[in-house]
Amino acid sequence: MTYCTSEVALRVRPMNHEEFKMGAKVTARTVDSNLVVILDPTVDPDDILRANRSREKQYIFDYAFDQMATQDEVYEATMKRFVCDILSGFNVTVFAYGPTGAGKTYTMLGTPNSPGIMVLTLNDLFFKMKATENDVIYSVTMSYMEIYNEMIRDLLDPKRGILELREDVNGETVVAGLSEIEATSTVQVMDLLSKGNMCRTCEPTAANKTSSRSHAILKVVVRSRSRVMDVSQDIHIGCLFMVDLAGSERASVTKNRGKRMVEGAHINRSLLALGNVINALAAGHDKVSYVNFRDSKLTRILKDSLGGNAKTVMIAHISPASTSFEESRNTLKYAARSRNI
Ligand code: ADP
Ligand code: MG
Repeated sequence: MTYCTSEVALRVRPMNHEEFKMGAKVTARTVDSNLVVILDPTVDPDDILRANRSREKQYIFDYAFDQMATQDEVYEATMKRFVCDILSGFNVTVFAYGPTGAGKTYTMLGTPNSPGIMVLTLNDLFFKMKATENDVIYSVTMSYMEIYNEMIRDLLDPKRGILELREDVNGETVVAGLSEIEATSTVQVMDLLSKGNMCRTCEPTAANKTSSRSHAILKVVVRSRSRVMDVSQDIHIGCLFMVDLAGSERASVTKNRGKRMVEGAHINRSLLALGNVINALAAGHDKVSYVNFRDSKLTRILKDSLGGNAKTVMIAHISPASTSFEESRNTLKYAARSRNI
């Protein structure tokens, strides 16, 4: 039996100091818990004929979060109910999508005072495991890697160099040589993630001082087996991927040349491949078989988790500022399309 769901959320971050200083206005806002509206700042509001037709665009999502939404609210609406599914052997994947500076890392990793989805999810996982440890034996391993220019690196042990994808005896795609660490507590995991994040490939672009040009992938595998042997000898294996995607801004927009152009092309290719996969999931499970997972390393790594007993959540991010209008509109289009049936 297969049972898959695919949802798309959108989060609008607060305006920041730089945007206020540049005289930016708020152009994107949530209207209710599903609807986001963006105003085109280049359309003259007094030009009534044009304005009515094209100034305002609306996009619908499974969840829309405004700048007041807390980390807990975002977590509770999106990932919380999947924690039990992971323990019972489902595959769950959550992505943070959006341009650099829109809030992806804030949502996924967060800060020590406002921990994000990676931390809150693992917290709940450990809590639920503790509550059932008399009946079930669990083991949890985690890996943290980045894909930069289609090259895979181990963020928990960068000295391992560039890692290759292989197929194992079951035909599943594995990252050869990727370290797996036995995880026991949220504090330990937070520490590992913060250290790993500092190893991410961040390079300056014209659009932003520090820009993540890499996808960061946290993989958590939960194996569980009943202590009561005669009830069931089955081992459940649940796989959880939490992915902080590379900035979705286009190479042309960031005025990049040479090395930056190559990065942009790789990122666009993997985000396009991912968009196609998510579209296919939204369209119905049978369509997934037509998707070319081989188009990028990102989709190859996630393939086994996106088909089958899969649950996916995409959280797209935008800035509300008029100065980010083009990028916000592109993000809304990509994400709303990902949700379309
Ligand atoms: P990205 O990872 O998409 O490049 P970040 O998550 O690093 O963007 O966010 C850029 C800045 O905005 C950071 O300083 C972050 O703390 C802040 N920020 C992002 N989203 C929020 C939010 N919802 N509330 C408060 N601050 C935020
Ligand atoms: Mg980031």
